[in-house]
Amino acid sequence: QRAPIVTIDGPSGAGKGTISQLLASRLGWKLLDSGAIYRVLALAAIHHNVELDNEASLALLAAHLDVQFISANGNGIKVVLEGEDVSHAIRSQQCSNAASKVAAFPRVREALLRRQRAFAEAPGLIADGRDMGTVVFPTSPAKLYLTASAEERAQRRYNQLQDKGFDVNIDRLLAEVVERDERDMNRPVAPLVPAEDALVIDTTGIGIDEVVELALSHIKAKL
Ligand code: C5P
Repeated sequence: QRAPIVTIDGPSGAGKGTISQLLASRLGWKLLDSGAIYRVLALAAIHHNVELDNEASLALLAAHLDVQFISANGNGIKVVLEGEDVSHAIRSQQCSNAASKVAAFPRVREALLRRQRAFAEAPGLIADGRDMGTVVFPTSPAKLYLTASAEERAQRRYNQLQDKGFDVNIDRLLAEVVERDERDMNRPVAPLVPAEDALVIDTTGIGIDEVVELALSHIKAKL
């Protein structure tokens, strides 16, 4: 019997990361942070001087990407690229923007499909991303799509980045969040869009606990 999978998609700053972590720990399930894979690929490209518009080289790099996700007991997940802890580095705005550029290439996405599907393991998986319910795990019975106003999403990203010690400017962040969503929603392959059978939750002005409860009741009803 295959492991149950819950997909959580939506734009940047909609609360997917926080909600996914809480759901995974409440259910005792594994977590796939698919955005981290695209971020790591972007960082590897920068390290290896691969141009961010060279689809063939990026796809090759994606196929051979030496990345490990190590669960750091209650402290989230440690991301290791070629032996180096890059958990902090991949959260920079430079990496966010580069990730959404490399993620637009079909051959790059194709090269990362199997790696993402391999996260499906008993007792279950919470899969966080942009195309979890539409492309990577389309047969998942429990799909969520989280969204929020652009202003609120930029404010959340601002708070998160500040907490992590990054120097950020709210106006620039809002412009980048809008630009990145635009690119993610309008790319020809795996665009950011709710799956037809996803429950859409607008988290603008809603507390985290309430979103978790809504998500859990959807999951219980669908699994
Ligand atoms: O979720 P996160 O902000 O870490 O994702 C970084 C970028 O990776 C997104 O802007 C998007 O372009 C890309 N991405 C994607 N498909 C996913 C997850 C992330 O294209 N499933």
